[in-house]
Amino acid sequence: MGISVLDKRDQLSVTDRGLYIDGTWTDAAAGRFDHLHPATNEMVTSVAEAGADAVGRAVQAARRAFDDGPWGAMRPRQRKRYLQRFAELLEAHADELAMLQTLDNGLPIHHARNSRISAPHVADVFDYFAGWADKISGETPPLYTDAHDLQFVTFREPVGVAAGIIPWNGPMMMFAYKVAPALACGCTVVLKPSENASLCALRLTELMQELDLPPGVFNLVTGGPETGQALVDHPGVDKIAFTGSRAVGAHIMSTAGADVKRVTLELGGKSAALVFADVPSPEQAGYGLMAGASTFLSGQICSLTTRVLVHASIYDRFLEGATAQLETVRLGDPYDPETTSAALINRRQKEKVLGYMDIGLEGGARLVAGGGAPGGDLEAGNWVNPTLFADVDNASRLAQEEIFGPVLSVIPFKSEEEATRIANASRFGLSGAIFTRDVARAFRVGRQMKTGSVGVNGYGLAPNAPIGGVKASGVGREGGQASIEAYTELKTMIFNLAG
Ligand code: NAD
Repeated sequence: MGISVLDKRDQLSVTDRGLYIDGTWTDAAAGRFDHLHPATNEMVTSVAEAGADAVGRAVQAARRAFDDGPWGAMRPRQRKRYLQRFAELLEAHADELAMLQTLDNGLPIHHARNSRISAPHVADVFDYFAGWADKISGETPPLYTDAHDLQFVTFREPVGVAAGIIPWNGPMMMFAYKVAPALACGCTVVLKPSENASLCALRLTELMQELDLPPGVFNLVTGGPETGQALVDHPGVDKIAFTGSRAVGAHIMSTAGADVKRVTLELGGKSAALVFADVPSPEQAGYGLMAGASTFLSGQICSLTTRVLVHASIYDRFLEGATAQLETVRLGDPYDPETTSAALINRRQKEKVLGYMDIGLEGGARLVAGGGAPGGDLEAGNWVNPTLFADVDNASRLAQEEIFGPVLSVIPFKSEEEATRIANASRFGLSGAIFTRDVARAFRVGRQMKTGSVGVNGYGLAPNAPIGGVKASGVGREGGQASIEAYTELKTMIFNLAG
């Protein structure tokens, strides 16, 4: 018997939904497309493709709510209450949302319930930004010179209509990082989820509806690239917050430039982990880094360290640990709590990742374990086997391109300088990691790494800390105060106290 997720769809009462514009649901869209489940390619439901007309209506609604509506002018204390209530709703629906995330993008149910992208952590993001709503303020610098009596006062004002465009791999967390700070700052929002994972966004929108926000403050348009491009092109949008691939981000940046729209971009990566000879257990380091690539979303995470640089003296022991980890991987029914890893998001991604395995072999990398795709019950879905390559040339495509699959590339190094040089020889600069017991070295190397973040003996995210990329990994930061700055404009007023 093959795997099926359709009983979960029925249990969750997932049905075809429309778009949420100006406080109501509407079916007026350009068309519909199928949502296929990654683990099985079963048709789960159909989703509306908004198209340019519906995007136009959504932006106009957001515009009205911002320009004429009560939202921007509302006392921040009241806006804060809306966000706090939404955090409570997310917590109250945590079990249902875990089940739904598994239906949306194939994240195994164990991780959907217990990971940093599960509903309670998404609630934390709303809770954190709720706290900002009544604390966003400007500065009153002291009078500067005897030459004049000018008092400068700055204000942080909402940027206006914010368009959020998000990827499929964290459909609730990405929703939260776009919507929570925007609303806290007094912006109105048009959100477009990924065409590969719209179900969580649709359900969160239903929960949003329970808040009774003024119409137009929050709007949801589902659809793919054309709908996204219509949003980017719309002159009524003031700011675009995009998370997704480098190629799409680069395109958005150039097209948004025509209107000088504000843009933040959280893009892809090919991050390096540096494992030094003094780690307590090279086997454990190998196990842990392989687990990062082989479990959870099977390597489909932006910040993952998929290039692992290992000191030559512990290289074999590292590979031993990584190989042992692969024996613990369990692919299968995403609703089985024992399943450790996800299928790839769609058939195209499966073909792409299998292609990279061939590229690795052709480029002279050594296949240590894995490779190919599993058959049997898993053949219908987008499964590939987690794969470990050693002796990878950092200049090769395997080491330079974002694969977005369960493929770990291991590269030996002999000195700290060599490791740092290899780590920085990448067009990307999203994250990175250093494993060592030497604090001074961690500090030194961490400062030299050209990335937006660096983990020392571990990595994680929190709503009150910024993340983002340098180089081709993005522009701007999300999290903490950086998000508030990204959704506000500074206005300076100058009072002539001399009369
Ligand atoms: P993607 O770039 O294919 O799509 C992202 C979103 O952009 C989707 O909603 C898509 O419909 C939309 N889109 C596509 N073309 C568009 C266009 N021309 N105009 C406007 N919108 C358009 O990315 P994906 O496959 O959904 O996600 C995977 C990528 O996202 C990876 O590269 C990953 O590294 C990156 N990512 C980055 C972060 C981060 O925080 N830096 C987090 C998660 C994912």
